[in-house]
Amino acid sequence: MSNKTATSISEVVTSGLCINCGLCEAVTRGRVRMVMTDYGSLRPTPADDFTGEEQARLLSACPGVTVSPRAFGESEPDPIWGQHSSMRYAWAGHQDVRFRAATGGALTALALHLVKSGKVAFVLHVVADPDQPMRSRWTISRTPYDVVSGAGSRYGPVAPLAGFMSALERSEPFAVVAKPCDLNAVHNLSKSDPRVDALCIYRLAMVCGGQSRLKKSQELLREFGIEEQEVSVFRYRGYGNPGLTRVETRDGRAFEKTYLDLWADEAGWQLETRCKLCPDALGEASDVAAADVWPGGGPTGEDAGFNGIIVRSPAGEALVEAAAASGDLILGDAITPRQFDDLQPHQVRKKKALKSRYEGLQHAGFPAPQTDGLRIEALGQALDQAQSQAEFDGTVKRAREGRFSEPMPEV
Ligand SMILES: Cc1cc2nc3c(=O)[nH]c(=O)nc-3n(C[C@H](O)[C@H](O)[C@H](O)COP(=O)(O)OP(=O)(O)OC[C@H]3O[C@@H](n4cnc5c(N)ncnc54)[C@H](O)[C@@H]3O)c2cc1C
Ligand code: SF4
Ligand code: SF4
Repeated sequence: MSNKTATSISEVVTSGLCINCGLCEAVTRGRVRMVMTDYGSLRPTPADDFTGEEQARLLSACPGVTVSPRAFGESEPDPIWGQHSSMRYAWAGHQDVRFRAATGGALTALALHLVKSGKVAFVLHVVADPDQPMRSRWTISRTPYDVVSGAGSRYGPVAPLAGFMSALERSEPFAVVAKPCDLNAVHNLSKSDPRVDALCIYRLAMVCGGQSRLKKSQELLREFGIEEQEVSVFRYRGYGNPGLTRVETRDGRAFEKTYLDLWADEAGWQLETRCKLCPDALGEASDVAAADVWPGGGPTGEDAGFNGIIVRSPAGEALVEAAAASGDLILGDAITPRQFDDLQPHQVRKKKALKSRYEGLQHAGFPAPQTDGLRIEALGQALDQAQSQAEFDGTVKRAREGRFSEPMPEV
């Protein structure tokens, strides 16, 4: 969709379109850092200290400015799920990986296979920050042990691509596991930096419903009556599927909450603005994307852990095949796109609403991302008139109330 986009990184930030991928820190070699704001988001700070060359490079790569799928061959994309060669149930072949991971451990199993087989030298992904376990940071994993240590979903802010230049500079083939928006940034960057396609040879994504600000996690600590400096473990899910959210303290106490209780009240999700406007939460710039597969979109209890995987590229197909042959990954039945709609109804609703949301933003004088090849226009045209008007009016109202606006991060 052709939108008026932000013309500077500071405008990306102040319009709520930064999703803290971390490329701002990587491109400026850490001169601009990803800093936690007092509203609980990681933002490039200072957001206006870029050379002309850095700013041009960042604007062409930033997922708050432009988002497009990677194209693999000529096959027709599914309107919702995009181009793919297969979709099926899958889970990790190793019981401990399956148990520890967010869902069925498919992403960890694939990353593990890449490292074990020597197809890549390392994996760029994220882990709990060892010094502040409620927070998360990027890491480079070279061993199976390290890859498995990163298993699990981190729902709070994290900037995986702050480590991307450091990964490229190692001049070794590597994989990245990250959110769809992070991989959109990688794909955008590949258009101006040939090292990206040469070295970042596997890109694995989780299907993503949105990232919460740190306030969501801080709120949980408040509920448990503990201070952040007391925390020794902060796990959002995993150790089962979905597993409990579990916080442990340095003096040996433990607090738990179920997944359904954690996400019961949508008003308390503290979602980033960019997530409400996300044109590709399904990983169309990945080789393989992995999702939850609960009928209706939510768990009704615990299970052994099953992913739905969306395989998009020939490299992704070859990886899945090799991981399955080695026993690292177990493959289940095929899933059709319309079956996947029933497993992720919130994604289908959002995708159809975006055209009207973007039109509302533009009407209110706000930038929106450019979304070539993501079928946003066509999907929006299929929305009925009343819903489309409600999305448009709601967006204009929120924009005028300042609910998409953010202050410049304080230095
Ligand atoms: C913010 C967020 C929202 C999500 N929303 C949905 C949704 O709406 N629908 C759905 O089907 N699934 C959603 N998921 C994905 C789901 O929780 C699982 O991650 C996914 O099913 C893959 O499971 P897995 O067992 O294969 O992952 P694992 O084997 O546990 O591997 C997860 C990998 O992702 C990396 N990772 C974890 N958190 C982050 C992060 N925040 N940013 C970058 N990399 C990260 C880890 O380093 C690890 O390598 C979401 C995940 C996150 C982090
Ligand atoms: S989304 Fe990434 S590239 Fe865009 S402003 Fe934020 S950190 Fe920078
Ligand atoms: S919903 Fe989209 S913008 Fe938000 S974290 Fe997920 S992939 Fe990124």
